[in-house]
Amino acid sequence: MKTLKKILVAGIAAAMMLTTLAGCGSAASSKTITFGTNAEFPPFEYVASKGTIGDFDGIDIAIAQKIGQDIGKEAKINNMEFDSLLIALQNGQVDAVIAGMTVTDERKESVDFSTPYYTATQVMIVKEDSEIKTAADMADKKIVVIQGYTGETVVNEMGYKYESFKKGTEAVLELVNGKCDVVVIDSATASKYVSDNPGLKIVEDSNAFEEEQYAIAVKKGNTELLNQINDSIQKMLDDGTISDLSAKYLDVDTDAE
Ligand code: GLN
Repeated sequence: MKTLKKILVAGIAAAMMLTTLAGCGSAASSKTITFGTNAEFPPFEYVASKGTIGDFDGIDIAIAQKIGQDIGKEAKINNMEFDSLLIALQNGQVDAVIAGMTVTDERKESVDFSTPYYTATQVMIVKEDSEIKTAADMADKKIVVIQGYTGETVVNEMGYKYESFKKGTEAVLELVNGKCDVVVIDSATASKYVSDNPGLKIVEDSNAFEEEQYAIAVKKGNTELLNQINDSIQKMLDDGTISDLSAKYLDVDTDAE
């Protein structure tokens, strides 16, 4: 009886060890790393007929690809709404988020951010003949922002009324059609929209719009992945990969749709 009990206990212990090992093994040996993004933000991420990863291309997509190579995993893209990205990270639906995402104190409460890889700022896109010269000139104008972007937060904090759209392209169309006076959005993306749409220009106001840092987000406490991502980003910052990619994609025609 005693022996039987011993065998049983040993058996259970062995089974438990195997399960633990299998559990560990499957996580550690996962061959893919899934990045969540919102492919509506050229030149960082956009849909392309022949992209760097599947149908997706841009600075962030190329960075994601290189991170995958550095950590020995195949990088995959899960395209979703910008507002869903951090929730998808917390749910484990994606391993990391790369989406031209600005590091903010509010976001830091729910996720961990990597070393920043790009500096941006909000700018105003207006019609070429617009009278808007500073952010204060927006006071009595029809302002459009993109829902959930830092541009919305900034305009909101300035106390101005605004309308928000889900996509940058929709916002810019409003402006082109004369239905609004100004679109507030990130600088590099604004440059893309202005070069794709004749008759528009960018107005900057460095007193009103602070610098923003883009970084990759991981689930809170996932230091193993965060360290790997940071090593990879540091390498790409040091050897010029990121500045080369930025220059390349600012030049590429990203107007695929
Ligand atoms: N940088 C802005 C933000 O973090 C916009 C990012 C994006 O649209 N992909 O809100």
